[in-house]
Amino acid sequence: MSRKNIIAANWKMNMTPTEAAAFLDPFLSTFSEATAVDIVIAPSFIAMPKASELITPNPAVALSAQNMSHEASGAFTGETSAAMLQDINTEYVILGHSERRSLYGEDDAVINKKVHATLAADLKPILCIGESLEEREGGQLESVLTTQLEGSLADVTAEQMADVVIAYEPVWAIGTGVTATPEQAQDTQAFVRSVLAKIFGEEVAAATRIQYGGSVKPGNAADLIGREDIDGFLVGGASLDPQSFAEIVSAGIGG
Ligand code: PEP
Repeated sequence: MSRKNIIAANWKMNMTPTEAAAFLDPFLSTFSEATAVDIVIAPSFIAMPKASELITPNPAVALSAQNMSHEASGAFTGETSAAMLQDINTEYVILGHSERRSLYGEDDAVINKKVHATLAADLKPILCIGESLEEREGGQLESVLTTQLEGSLADVTAEQMADVVIAYEPVWAIGTGVTATPEQAQDTQAFVRSVLAKIFGEEVAAATRIQYGGSVKPGNAADLIGREDIDGFLVGGASLDPQSFAEIVSAGIGG
């Protein structure tokens, strides 16, 4: 089963609208035609309209949000709805990032509501899962990932899974400079795919794209992307520099 690699930049709370434009102008001219990978940029909400103006005419690059409310509209101060994201040509929404889970108390039940809200709006969730170092060392890796997948994807149908991307991001590798070895990432992502097979069947599992995230850099991207169950990256720190993100994308095209 061939799966198209998907390389996404998670800018987190970095990049003003002006800085986003300064990044995108040269980056988008480097990747101006559809390529063998899907390239995704997730700016902050405030930078999304500017990014959308620049990204929308570019067939190689798609716009993502970093979060979304599961509510449709109304008295939810500070929140952003699916309709608002659709209005500026958003294609993907990162959900369940470990920072949302640990700093803002999002659990699998809330994330599941958000997954359903994105799918109902024809937006594509990039669902993040991952274990802490304590959980890995305590032998809980498989149970933690299984619980996150079963909870976040509850009542999602096999058909809907065509629009879902999974990002496996070990918490101990996010923003730490410590990357999972290609073997650790491959073994864990093969396990993630086996859980998807139990929930949705082999065919869906084989077609689902699973990204790796956690201190991906130009120097380690090629090794990671060469592994069978690694279908791209979710990149934080190294996506803030257009040159290094372009090199990671190039590794994805080659892998
Ligand atoms: C992330 O936050 O999704 C991430 C993977 O960050 P970093 O690449 O900086 O580890």
